[in-house]
Amino acid sequence: MARKALITGVTGQDGAYLAQLLLSKGYEVAGIVRRSSHSQVSDHRLKWLGVAKDVKMVDGNLIDLSSLIRIVREERPDEIYNLGAQSFVQSSWQQPLLTANVTAVGVNNLLEAMRLEAGNARFYQASSSEMYGLVQHPIQSETTPFYPRSPYAVAKLYGHWITVNYRESFGLHASSGILFNHESPLRGLEFVTRKVTQGVANIALGRAKELRLGNIQAKRDWGHARDYVRAMWLMLQQDKAEDYVIATGRTTTVEDMCKIAFRHVGLNINEHLVIDPALFRPAEVDLLLGDPSKAKRAFGWVPETSLEEMIVEMVEADLAALRSVQG
Ligand code: NDP
Repeated sequence: MARKALITGVTGQDGAYLAQLLLSKGYEVAGIVRRSSHSQVSDHRLKWLGVAKDVKMVDGNLIDLSSLIRIVREERPDEIYNLGAQSFVQSSWQQPLLTANVTAVGVNNLLEAMRLEAGNARFYQASSSEMYGLVQHPIQSETTPFYPRSPYAVAKLYGHWITVNYRESFGLHASSGILFNHESPLRGLEFVTRKVTQGVANIALGRAKELRLGNIQAKRDWGHARDYVRAMWLMLQQDKAEDYVIATGRTTTVEDMCKIAFRHVGLNINEHLVIDPALFRPAEVDLLLGDPSKAKRAFGWVPETSLEEMIVEMVEADLAALRSVQG
C-alpha cells in the first residue's frame, strides 16, 4: 500500500518541491491549504512543478487545532511535514503575534493532533538557522546555542523545542531540521535571493534601472530547496528521530550573491544597486554558516546544486517568466 504524507505549507516553496519528491517515490500526498476569500487555491508552485493535480488539498489552518485533528484523523498519514509558517522575518516585526500563533503555537497544535490521532506517524518540523541569530559560534551545528533576533526566530525556537519535547515526553518520532537558507525559482518575491534574481531580470529586459537592497554585507549559507527537501524525507526514514542541521557549509555575502546574478546577464552591479537603509532589519543577523556533517554521517546527505548554479537557474526562470508576460 502507498505510504501517505501530509504536508502543511504545501503551497509554499518547500511544500511544492517536497510534494514532487514524495509523489515520485509513490506516496499519496495531502496538503493543508488555508481558505482565502478569492476561493482559488494558490497552487501555482505545484503547477510549475507539474504536480498540482496529484496533491489532495484539504482545508485547514495551523492555528485551528480542531481542523488539524479532523485532517489527521481522516487522512491517517504515515509522515507529517510541518512546513507551514508565517515565514518572512521582516514581516514578523509587523505581525509578531500572528507569527507566534502560526509559527510557534501552530507546531504544538499539529503535534497534539498527531499525538491524539496518529501517534505512530513520523513528524518533521521546519526549524530555521535564524534561531542562531546573534551567532554564538562561527560555524553553527546541532549543539550551538541559539540566540534568536526576530519575532520569527523566537517563534521558530518554540517550534523547535516543542518538537524535541514531544519526542522526549511522548516517544513520538519527531525530528527537527535546522535548515539554512534555501532558494529556487519558486522562492517568494519578498526574499532577498528572488528579489535579486527578478530585479536583475527586470533590469536586463530594460524594465527597471535599479535594484534596492538593505544590508548587503549580511552573510548567508544558501542552498537549493530541491536538495533540502530530500534531507527532510531522509530524516523521517531514520529509525531514530533526531535533529539535524542542513546547510552547504559555505557562506557568501548578499553582495557577492548579487554579483553572480548581474554577471550572468552581463551587467555591472555598481550601475544598478542602491542601498536603502529603510530595508535594514531592526536587529540584524550578520553571519550564518552551517555544519551539515551530522546529516552526512547519518544518511549521506550532501547538497548537489552550487550557489552559482542556483542563482543562474533563478535568473533564467525570472527572465522566461517576464518575457512570457511581455508576450
Ligand atoms: P513559504 O513562505 O514559501 O511557505 C509558507 C507556507 O505556509 C505557505 O504554504 C503558506 O500558505 C503556509 N501558511 C502560512 N500560514 C499558515 C497557516 N496559518 N496555516 C497553514 N498554513 C499556513 O516558506 P518556505 O517553503 O520557504 O519554507 C517552508 C518552511 O521552512 C517554513 O516553515 C519556513 O519558515 C521554514 N524555513 C525556510 C527556510 C528557507 O530558506 N526557505 C529556511 C529555514 C526554515 P499560503 O500559500 O496560503 O500563504
